[in-house]
Amino acid sequence: MTAHRQSRREFIRTTSLAAAAAPWLAALSSRAGAVDPNRKIGFALCGLGGLSSSQLAPALQTTKHCRLAGIVTGTPAKAAAWKAKYNIPDKNIYNYETMGDMAGNPDIDVVYVVTPNALHGDLAIKAAKAGKHVLSEKPMEVSVEKCQKMIDACKAANRMLAVGYRNRFEPHTMECIRLAREKVFGPVKTIEASFGFAIGDPDQWRLKHALSGGGALMDVGIYALQTARYISGQEPVEVSAREVKTDPVKFKEVDETMAFRLQFPGGVTASCQTTFSFFGLNSYTVRAEKGWFGLGPAYGYNGVQGRRSDGQAMDFAEVNQFAAEMDDFSQCILNNKPTIVPGEEGLRDVKIMMAIYESAKTGQPVKLG
Ligand code: NAD
Repeated sequence: MTAHRQSRREFIRTTSLAAAAAPWLAALSSRAGAVDPNRKIGFALCGLGGLSSSQLAPALQTTKHCRLAGIVTGTPAKAAAWKAKYNIPDKNIYNYETMGDMAGNPDIDVVYVVTPNALHGDLAIKAAKAGKHVLSEKPMEVSVEKCQKMIDACKAANRMLAVGYRNRFEPHTMECIRLAREKVFGPVKTIEASFGFAIGDPDQWRLKHALSGGGALMDVGIYALQTARYISGQEPVEVSAREVKTDPVKFKEVDETMAFRLQFPGGVTASCQTTFSFFGLNSYTVRAEKGWFGLGPAYGYNGVQGRRSDGQAMDFAEVNQFAAEMDDFSQCILNNKPTIVPGEEGLRDVKIMMAIYESAKTGQPVKLG
């Protein structure tokens, strides 16, 4: 594991935009005296829906460096239930309007924004203005402009901003990044990545463009896009895409099934697929000059499995990806370390997804600067 973590760090050092020293730490030190590296970082979950209830709150109980310190919810009944279940004091319970009051509350270090996509920006900005670090769920927001505003607000407040790309902390995924980066099978030539599922309830926010910003691509296609980018280690120079819609009523406002192709500098290509209308897309294969490797299932909360053309095992213990993601962010905060999933990373994905939508609409490839 050490070697894998090492290579991941090297990759980050060369690719991350977040390399600039974090001035907030100096500010924190001067305000609060010496920083205690063993302190548990206090998280407030903002938006207590499916992900917060079923994954994040339980994951927080298993973290090494974090604790569930507070909540932000628009539903008083949820506040009461969470208060009882997780022993959250009244002073750490907020709603979307009172979040600004967090400014004077030292229990809360991080606001983890877990609402529908189009609300991430405003809530992240409120949290930053209240002096809190921000972890935003994916996709970061529904437009490049809103992503940029989140980045600007966190910079202005000297707070860190990360995006919840949990699988970047998953060991098989980290191993695939190492295999690509160290050219274990020679230079990567082409990547195939797919993630999708059959979505249920036709009335949910994921199918409403104003709240989601898009359908399958924004929700789960983003994982395939991430794979293409972290495996190639490059940014695409051109995208082309096509949408297939078999249910124009259910998917009136958002994409149902999308196939998209990314062209990277130097000739690496990625073919990706995503859907909201069937199961079975959950894998990737990386083809390199002297062999291949990949994952399948690739993107679930658990059960990730890897394979490689030389028959060597890819055998890593399962981790709770959300716990690993939150622990890593806490370590970044405590040790003045840049995150591998900064806001700039979220913005890049949103920019590429907007180009994918444009290509699907016009039927023409879209060049990216
Ligand atoms: P959800 O619908 O289960 O929960 C959304 C929460 O936001 C609810 O508590 C709801 O009350 C609240 N909310 C506040 N304002 C709202 C509004 N105007 N309309 C609807 N709900 C509103 O959704 P979820 O599955 O928890 O997803 C939340 C976020 O987490 C999304 O950005 C999603 O993409 C992301 N997510 C990430 C993963 C992952 O694996 N990283 C998995 C699931 C969801």
